[in-house]
Amino acid sequence: MTPPSFFILEFRRLVVAVGLAGVYWLIKGDWKLSIALCVACLALSWGWQLARLYRWLAEPDDLPPIGGSSIGSVLHDVYVLRSRTTSGPAPTQRPQLHLKKSLASMRDAALIINSDHRLVWCNDAAEYLLGIRFEEEEGKTLSDVIPGKQLKRYVKREVFQKPLRIKPGPDPEFCVQLEFAHFGSDDRLVFVKDVTEQDKLERMRRDFVGNVSHELRTPLTVIKGYIETLQSFIDGSDRTLQRSLWSMDTQVNRMERLIEDLLWLSRIESIEGERKDDEIHVADLLVDVRDNLAAAWPEREIQLDISSNRGILGSALELRSAISNLVVNALKYSDGVVKIRWANTSVGPSLSVEDIGQGIEPKHIPRLTERFYRVEKSRSQKTGGTGLGLAIVKHVAVSHDAKLFVDSEVGKGSVFRLVFPNDRSVVAQESAVI
Ligand code: ADP
Repeated sequence: MTPPSFFILEFRRLVVAVGLAGVYWLIKGDWKLSIALCVACLALSWGWQLARLYRWLAEPDDLPPIGGSSIGSVLHDVYVLRSRTTSGPAPTQRPQLHLKKSLASMRDAALIINSDHRLVWCNDAAEYLLGIRFEEEEGKTLSDVIPGKQLKRYVKREVFQKPLRIKPGPDPEFCVQLEFAHFGSDDRLVFVKDVTEQDKLERMRRDFVGNVSHELRTPLTVIKGYIETLQSFIDGSDRTLQRSLWSMDTQVNRMERLIEDLLWLSRIESIEGERKDDEIHVADLLVDVRDNLAAAWPEREIQLDISSNRGILGSALELRSAISNLVVNALKYSDGVVKIRWANTSVGPSLSVEDIGQGIEPKHIPRLTERFYRVEKSRSQKTGGTGLGLAIVKHVAVSHDAKLFVDSEVGKGSVFRLVFPNDRSVVAQESAVI
């Protein structure tokens, strides 16, 4: 009801009361009694309205006492407003309800958890996949519904960018992948996918590569031994045989490096989901890597610029291998100074390896981390590359939640940068290396 119509109704009531009092005054000529009559009429009318209002408030589900009176119209408005709020969801909840309805009929398992990570809803597919009953699990924390330390840690960290793969049940093969998305203001929608088959295939591939590489090691060691023996026996004047043996030795060494890298890659892959949180003093690690590589490449200059006092939570072995691969590449594909920097950025500490070498054409950059991808095959082979170095760097980056960035310009050089998230970094303890 709009304010003007309210006033018109009240004004009408006043006119009627004053009219009645006027008529009484004309008949009886007593103005005092006329005023008393007017006031009594108005009081009676408002009292009656109030009585109707109280009656309706006692039974709010009944229709309101709608009439021509102003209070009747007010009650009508109250009734309409109330029906709007009770007969349907709040406008902000309507899309959520709609989404829930769609999710309920989906074949993919979906759960909704609140800000305390407690289960507030799940669809039939989730009940079936996880072997749970919603009525029994409602209100429990997600890590109680789907047990496992990994999930507990993941949910506690509240960093949901990467999906989580876990094996929740007693069946050691059963593997699910959880992906979290925002839902409503504070809730999270969790999609659960059965990835048992995919996980099995990936494990078989990893095991196969690992086993083949491992099996190749023994025959290779034997061949290498024979080459060394032959080299010590041959007559120095037989240049052809000498060259052949040297070439065999080079190839065997290459195969050895290849096998080492393949084994290392399959090891990193197999423990990729595991939480690595050894506290690594990055500055010490960089000094160590620089010293080792400087000994292997004595003619080259490797500069170290450390401006961050941050350490990283991760695996020292993996980080060492990633940094070594980046620095070795910089040494292999450039002739000048190689700079290693450890600095803070707004998003987290950054490790960069910079060279002023041949650079890389932009079209190759997105593919550099693929296994065996080489920009220039001949150069890579000449420098003894396996084509696996950057694949290893990429895996180490993923398992440390870091991002790998490559800036390169042909003829000018390249910068490979690993940027770690702030929640992986810690203030490093006092340096052991000065
Ligand atoms: P490789 O063992 O062949 O060096 P990587 O995976 O380490 O394999 O690198 C892939 C390819 O990326 C290399 O073959 C090389 O062409 C290119 N590359 C890597 N680092 C650099 C660099 N610093 N400068 C120029 N090219 C590079």
